[in-house]
Amino acid sequence: MSAIPILKERQKQIYEKGEGSVPFDLQCEKQSVAGSVSQRACVFCGSRVVLYPVADALHVVHGPPGCAVYTWDIRGSLSSGPELHRLSFSTDLTETDIIYGGEKKLYHIVNDLIDTYHPNAAFIYSTCIIGVIGDDVGAVCKRVEAEKGIPVIPVHSEGFKGTKKDGYRAACEALFSLIGSGSTEGISPRSINILGEFNIGGEAWIIKKYYERMGLQVVSVMTGDGRVDEIRRAHGAALNVVQCSGSMTTLAKMMKETYGIPFIRVSYFGLEDMSSALYDVAKHFPDAPELMERARALVRDEIQAITPELKAYREDLRGKKAAIYVGGAFKAFSLVKALRYLGMEIALVGSQTGNPDDYRQLEEMCDAGTVIVDDANPLELSKYALEKDIDLMIGGVKERPIAYKLGIGFCDHNHERKLPLAGYVGMVNFAKEVHASVTCPIWKLSPRRSKGRVPGMIRM
Ligand code: SF4
Repeated sequence: MSAIPILKERQKQIYEKGEGSVPFDLQCEKQSVAGSVSQRACVFCGSRVVLYPVADALHVVHGPPGCAVYTWDIRGSLSSGPELHRLSFSTDLTETDIIYGGEKKLYHIVNDLIDTYHPNAAFIYSTCIIGVIGDDVGAVCKRVEAEKGIPVIPVHSEGFKGTKKDGYRAACEALFSLIGSGSTEGISPRSINILGEFNIGGEAWIIKKYYERMGLQVVSVMTGDGRVDEIRRAHGAALNVVQCSGSMTTLAKMMKETYGIPFIRVSYFGLEDMSSALYDVAKHFPDAPELMERARALVRDEIQAITPELKAYREDLRGKKAAIYVGGAFKAFSLVKALRYLGMEIALVGSQTGNPDDYRQLEEMCDAGTVIVDDANPLELSKYALEKDIDLMIGGVKERPIAYKLGIGFCDHNHERKLPLAGYVGMVNFAKEVHASVTCPIWKLSPRRSKGRVPGMIRM
């Protein structure tokens, strides 16, 4: 038995708070170390998860079928109408196309699909191989757009050309190309766009209802339950409210620069951040004090209704330890606060796409002994899960098997889940799920908890 080692090249992306006199200087925003088997998704996947919930658009993946399968129905994003987003179309590039080029094939496939499904727009995603063979996807899109009369938008997301964050940027550019092409008639001066909310398990509907109860008009949600026509008129809103800031801040900045729309960053996870999101939006409209009054009443009523149930879960969860590994660091802040509210301690927190400011903020929030990690891999997550003897891991589809194999409770807080975890109702769902997983009796039988086991050691 020996302790799990960390790759030398990865050591500067991991920090344990309270490490003697070592100053906090976590490295981040860099390409994943080759061979480290990063948990991070590729550029294409980054763009796909952002655009996926636009339900009346066609999503065509230009590349081999594997890329399309990898992202097929990738989010639990619900639609109140069309469900075209749930289909995954691929140009199915083969060796011949790769040698002679795939533009003709792309042209015919997109034409056929538009004739068959009559979408309101089409997003055409470039994958790794397109970057290698150099197909002019933009030219094909222009030609089809002119012939079919709907926006056909290239998404420049060749998988290898950067990190998942570059995929977010490609998606923002694609959305930005739609914004400004619709009428702003009927848009109230007290209106917002909700950015970075993907309607997983119906979360966008919950959040939209809160804002509407305050008296605000929601012009568009990007991209949860998204519609092309709503996105086209998003430039008429008075404020952009950005959640999942890692993915959507680029778009908010573009809209500020071009249309003068200010933006604020919010989170809808946990009681504290959910309430701040409503107050911060109300503050933006000082000439309408009734918005703040309604926000206060809403917060009071919602919290009163759920407090007894949350208290019951807190009793059992006090002192249990959690590891958080999520896509964006802003969500990690909310999860730290939400888990603390439930009485839990944070043993590890990390993200795929955090920036230096995010990590500095995390370092300030965390207690001594907490491990902060950027762009982790399965070995690192396993190492700290065992060494810190955690009771719960929070992550996504790629972290779930790590937790279960180690005999640790798990809560899916990523885009594949079907359960709403945002808003006040979401906090109850979150607490219920965390409680059910942490207190499950099966973990007592896991090898790491068996007699004589040394935390942090593994058979090599
Ligand atoms: S774009 Fe590249 S890295 Fe991404 S799924 Fe396709 S082949 Fe893999």
